Amino acid sequence: MAKMNVPELFGSMVFDDRVMRARLSADVYQSLRKTIDENAPLQQDIAQAVASEMRDWAVENGATHFTHWFQPLTGVTAEKHDGFITPSPDGGVIMEFSGKELIKGEPDASSFPSGGLRATFEARGYTAWDPTSYAFIKDHTLCIPTAFCSYAGDALDKKTPLLRSMQALNRQAKRILKLFGKEVKNVRTSVGPEQEYFLIDREMFQKRPDLVYTGRTLFGAMPPKGQELDDHYFGAIKPRVIAYMEDLNTELWKLGILAKTEHNEVAPAQHELAPIFSTTNVATDKNQLTMEIMRKVAAKHGLACLLHEKPFAGVNGSGKHNNWSMATDEGVNLLSPGDTPHENAQFLLFLCAVIQAVDDYQDLLRLSVATAGNDHRLGANEAPPAIISVFLGDELTAILEAIKNDVPYAGTERVTMKLGVHALPRFSRDTTDRNRTSPFAFTGNKFEFRSLGSSNSIACCNIMLNAAVAESLKQYADRLEGAKNFEGELHELIRETIQKHERILFNGNGYGEEWVEEATKVRGLSNLKTTADAMPHLLDPQNMAMLMEHKVFTETELHSRCEIMLENYCKTVNIEGHTMVDMVRKNYLPAIEEYLYSLANTIGAMRSVSDRVKCNYEVSTMERLSELTDYILERVKDLEKALEDLKGMEDIPKTSEMIRDDVLPKMEHLRKHVDEAEMLMPEKSWPFPSYGKLLFSVY
Ligand code: ADP
Ligand code: MG
Repeated sequence: MAKMNVPELFGSMVFDDRVMRARLSADVYQSLRKTIDENAPLQQDIAQAVASEMRDWAVENGATHFTHWFQPLTGVTAEKHDGFITPSPDGGVIMEFSGKELIKGEPDASSFPSGGLRATFEARGYTAWDPTSYAFIKDHTLCIPTAFCSYAGDALDKKTPLLRSMQALNRQAKRILKLFGKEVKNVRTSVGPEQEYFLIDREMFQKRPDLVYTGRTLFGAMPPKGQELDDHYFGAIKPRVIAYMEDLNTELWKLGILAKTEHNEVAPAQHELAPIFSTTNVATDKNQLTMEIMRKVAAKHGLACLLHEKPFAGVNGSGKHNNWSMATDEGVNLLSPGDTPHENAQFLLFLCAVIQAVDDYQDLLRLSVATAGNDHRLGANEAPPAIISVFLGDELTAILEAIKNDVPYAGTERVTMKLGVHALPRFSRDTTDRNRTSPFAFTGNKFEFRSLGSSNSIACCNIMLNAAVAESLKQYADRLEGAKNFEGELHELIRETIQKHERILFNGNGYGEEWVEEATKVRGLSNLKTTADAMPHLLDPQNMAMLMEHKVFTETELHSRCEIMLENYCKTVNIEGHTMVDMVRKNYLPAIEEYLYSLANTIGAMRSVSDRVKCNYEVSTMERLSELTDYILERVKDLEKALEDLKGMEDIPKTSEMIRDDVLPKMEHLRKHVDEAEMLMPEKSWPFPSYGKLLFSVY
């Protein structure tokens, strides 16, 4: 590979601050910066000036088209390309792009899910530029990150509510900071999402209809070796994978994505990529883009990148860790303990806000990561449990405990923790990040929400997290703004919050059976095991009230989102069910039958030569396989019936319950018999590549 100049390459396909400063006139640049930093409205003439520079820059960098790039509720990004070319009077063409085209687009929205939001007479939606997320060039196309709304103003995407939730948090956090004597321009949340994925051989991938149609294997017996040796985690990376990662990094760097760490994960063929954190909406755009580029680069290398949460039964699934913090425009991290007692009090208040938010809105956090794919992980003894709790580490827990009880904290110095009087110790990463079983862990200066599935958009959980924290902060600001004695009231508030919400704090083993007992029976935490269980809580009165109060969602948007998410769940499982039926009827049963025929012939032929041969192996295999085909037939008929019953069902929550209670168990049953048959069959007679081949053939 030619030597590359990373600093030069980095962001070379992004219309970022460097480009803007270099190319825009001083006043255009200043106005745009004001829009980006302070949400100031964008003037038409400024938009025009930006658009024309953007076009020149894009054309110089090989772009021929532009698109408004948005995130509809399908979970993937959408784009509709328009050419820059416009006919000129002399019969030629010129490259045009107007301020209007930059700011607003009108894609035909009728084929994106809206949950009934868009009446048929108003199929059009519009996209609106998000100037805080830089435009970039991908596949010769200038991509403009946008929000997507209906003409009535309802959000049809994930970005709009995310931006609203960031606004809500900004509003409330600024009120709190003011009480501590700080005027800041804005408070924004930052996220660094760690992304897990599997990499397998593309030819094998294409031979498996289940992977192609559903992203996961629906059948497959366990290979002799799985992940039990733990020899893959952080192990040496194989040459083909290294070549992939190098190429991927190059592509991501060009797009200004700070891909920084990469390593093998626990399962064979599993890897992780982590970028450096950025502002939440930008991090969200970049994560969507990262997932897309990961898939594309894999294809170039003859590989397939699996982003499904559970591509293989019996080996670890893939998640995404949402590292989250709040920071001021001056770069002060509000979740970082400070050096002075005053700063510590502020830190503790923000910490309490998060603890309270997670406790009060456990179900919103849980449902924000609920998908059919992620249901295979949460609570399945590998990923965090479906129960949401907060890990703070022993030291911080002891400090909170001391504050709560007004007793001395037995730290390095034995002091009574009086806010505004004593400084807190620094929390080293080591003391806070030991527990990997917690879904929501404090890791020194940020929280790490670990329940996300690898294919989830990070928008969803951050919408809920931002909104819930905004709500805690609002309650605190309401109380403290009127306080006669600020320090006293603050101390009391923190004490009360710890008392009231300590049930959500848990430093123990989140995978243990005992925890499920304690969490649900003693502490009263919720344990929403599946999407069908979790999603309807979006419409619980207190959840709706909070999200509406902070203007993150309207009532209609909430109803439509709940419907769309449940519908996604139903459709996903429905496709899986039909794929299973298809594979069984067209491939598995015929393959077994063919082998049975050859066994029967073999037995007949052997016996015709000698009546002393027992044919034990042939006969027993034939008998068991024949039995299995009968079971498989019964099971596939059961599944077909269950899928048939879903047809024409209108009630989506009911349908999702049937999927959970009827369809999924029947799929499980069918699989069991097919997997047993696989173990009895010669590899060459089996119609699809085995788990062993899928997991261990990339070198
Ligand atoms: P790990 O959890 O694997 O040990 P790191 O601690 O290095 O990894 O960080 C994981 C992610 O957290 C990275 O994407 C990093 O950029 C991000 N991160 C670090 N600090 C912050 C912060 N203040 N806010 C949000 N994300 C952060
Ligand atoms: Mg992590």
